[in-house]
Amino acid sequence: MSDLVIAGGGLAGLLVAWRCLTTGNARRITIVEGAAQVGGDHTWSFNETDLTAEAFDWFRPALAHYWTGYHVHFPEYSRHLDIGYCSSNSASVRSAIQPFIDNGQLIVVANARVAEIADNVIRLENGDTLEGEAVIDATGFKPDPTVLLGYQKFVGHVIKTSSPHGLDVPIIMDATVSQGEAYRFVYCLPYGPDEVLIEDTYYEDGPDLDDAVIADRIKAYAASKNWQVAEILHTERGILPITLASDLEARLEGETGAAPKIGLAGGLYNAVTGYSLPDAVAMAMRLGDLPELTQANVAEAVLAYRRSHWQREKFFRLLNRMLFKAGKPSERYKVLQRFYRLDEPLVSAFYRGDLSLLQKARILSGKPPVPVGAAIYNLFEHQFMKRHRS
Ligand SMILES: Cc1cc2nc3c(=O)[nH]c(=O)nc-3n(C[C@H](O)[C@H](O)[C@H](O)COP(=O)(O)OP(=O)(O)OC[C@H]3O[C@@H](n4cnc5c(N)ncnc54)[C@H](O)[C@@H]3O)c2cc1C
Repeated sequence: MSDLVIAGGGLAGLLVAWRCLTTGNARRITIVEGAAQVGGDHTWSFNETDLTAEAFDWFRPALAHYWTGYHVHFPEYSRHLDIGYCSSNSASVRSAIQPFIDNGQLIVVANARVAEIADNVIRLENGDTLEGEAVIDATGFKPDPTVLLGYQKFVGHVIKTSSPHGLDVPIIMDATVSQGEAYRFVYCLPYGPDEVLIEDTYYEDGPDLDDAVIADRIKAYAASKNWQVAEILHTERGILPITLASDLEARLEGETGAAPKIGLAGGLYNAVTGYSLPDAVAMAMRLGDLPELTQANVAEAVLAYRRSHWQREKFFRLLNRMLFKAGKPSERYKVLQRFYRLDEPLVSAFYRGDLSLLQKARILSGKPPVPVGAAIYNLFEHQFMKRHRS
C-alpha cells in the first residue's frame, strides 16, 4: 500500500508527490493518470515573488526559463518591471520528478481513468482499486454552480524567427493591440534568440475561442514587430477560469464525503489570472511539511488552505467583477493600464495574492476607470451570486 495515492498526474498532483518524497513524509506514492503520460503538454509561468524563498529554492530544478524582469505596454505608456519571471513546462517538471520514478518511490499508473475517489481508496474504471494511507483528488478543473466565472482565453504559438527577434525579456502584457468585446493583450516569452512564444489573450465573458482567427492575429503581431516566422514550433490554447464570485462553504457542502481536492479541482488558482502554479507549489510545501500523511490530516490541511485561499482572493474577485461587469469591454484595458502604474512591491504582492489594506486602498483610490454606478451594483459578492445564480 502507498502512503499517498493521487488521482490526476497534472501539475498539482505531481508537485505534491515530488515535495512529499523530498521531505520524506511519504516513502511511496502512486499517481493515477488518465493520459499516456503525466504532466500534459503545458508551459507554467509565474513571478519569482509568487513563491517564498524556500519554495523557490526547492522548485528551481523544475524551471525551464528565468528572466530578470519584464515589460508591459499600454496605449498611454510602456514600463519595465524588475520582477524575476519564470517558466517551467511539462518536460522540466517531469525531469524533476524522474529520480523518484527511477528509484521506485513514485509509481505512475498511466492510461488509467479514475471512476471513484473515496477516503483511502481509488477505484479505476477497469475495476481495479488502489489503497493509500491518504488519497487526494487532483483531477483538474470542473465547473461548479457555486463559482461564477469569466474567462482568460488564449492561443499561443512558439515561433522560430528567421533572424534574432531582439526581445531579451518577456512582454507580459502588450495591450496596444486593437480591443473589442474583450480585454485583449499579447504575451511574449523569448525562449531563445530566435524562438519566441506569442500568445494572443482575451478576457471575455464566454469560453468560445476561434483558433484560426487568432492564428492570423499572431501572424500580424509578429509582422508588426518585424519578426519573420520561419516555423511554428508549437501551439497551445488555454481557456482559464477567472472567478467573479464564489460561495466556498456551499461548494464544500456539495463535496461532503469527497476526498480532499487540490489544484484546479479544489479551485486553487489566482482569481485574476487563472494561474495555479504558485498555489500548487504552496500546497505541495504544506502537505510535505505534515509530520504524517493520514487521510484526516491531509483533509484538514487541504481544507484550511482552501478556506484561507478563498478569503485571500475575495478582493481579487471584486476586481474581476469590476473588470468584467462594470465597464465597457473595449475599455477594460484601462483597469490594467492604471494598475501597472503602481509600484513594484505592490505589483508583486498583487500576483502573490498578499496585498496589505493600504495596498488594496491604493488600487481602488483615484478616479475609477469604470462607471461608479455599475461598480457599486457589482460590489457585493453575495448579492452578485444571488442575482446570477437565480
Ligand atoms: C495552455 C495553458 C497554459 C497555462 N499557463 C499557465 C501559466 O503560465 N502559469 C500558471 O500558473 N498556470 C497556467 N495555466 C493554468 C493552470 O496552472 C494549469 O491548468 C494547470 O495545469 C492546472 O493543474 P492541475 O493539476 O490542477 O490540473 P491539470 O493540469 O488539468 O491536471 C489534471 C490531471 O488529471 C488527469 N485526470 C482528469 N480526470 C481524470 C480521471 N478521471 N482519471 C485519471 N486522470 C484524470 C488529467 O489527464 C490531468 O493530467 C495554464 C493552463 C493552460 C491550459
